[in-house]
Amino acid sequence: MIIEDEILVLKEIRYNDNDKILHALSKNNGKIQIVSRGCRKNKSPLVNISQIMSYSKCQLYVSRDMYILNSGELIDNFYNIRNNITAFLHGTYILELLNYISQENEVDKKAYDMTIRLFQILESVEDDEKKIENIISIYELKLISMLGYRPQIKECILCGEKLNNKSLYSFNIKDGGIQCKNCVNINISGYDISYKNIVLLNNILISKLDDNEIINAISDNMNFLIKKYLFYHIGKSNFTTLKLLRKGDIYG
Ligand SMILES: [Zn+2]
Repeated sequence: MIIEDEILVLKEIRYNDNDKILHALSKNNGKIQIVSRGCRKNKSPLVNISQIMSYSKCQLYVSRDMYILNSGELIDNFYNIRNNITAFLHGTYILELLNYISQENEVDKKAYDMTIRLFQILESVEDDEKKIENIISIYELKLISMLGYRPQIKECILCGEKLNNKSLYSFNIKDGGIQCKNCVNINISGYDISYKNIVLLNNILISKLDDNEIINAISDNMNFLIKKYLFYHIGKSNFTTLKLLRKGDIYG
């Protein structure tokens, strides 16, 4: 059976003399592994679509639980990202993250579309480390929410008191939400967070990835909290590409 799907290549593994096995996020079939035969020969029509970060429309031959790349056309290889080292490292980290969290054949079209949008934004963003980090934070918080860990930020997760701008709050990573000052002593695993930043968390969840007002409002502390939150709930923090960005060791 031949199916058509859109894919984003998350990882490529050399296989035999001329082949590759691709880990890809697909639009209609979730994460899949694809055998790309002969794609390491120069003249293969599969060369461009069988590379990490390539985004293509493909025809796949399905045999039992195997996908074999039959043909395809490249939609975008995000060439400019490769010329922007900061965007490239962050983009590679996102591919590594997706390869870790995505379940085989589990479809999440919203997360897929958001990921393609992220790479389109990284393709055109200037080489500005702070700005790129902030865009990644927006993506991370939206992604972990789509995975079922949307933080509770409207009321205290312990006593239910509605949040307001006169109190002090703490972000409880483990239980996934905000605690008021009266409840802070019950569980000390939280991080101080201002009411302004709680409102920002909410705005991140409802905004677009490239909303400049939101991007500019994100502090280093907010980046830290979002990564802490993401890594706690996915159970992994040691991503190779974050080590290259020298940011992998502070979230363990
Ligand atoms: Zn409370």
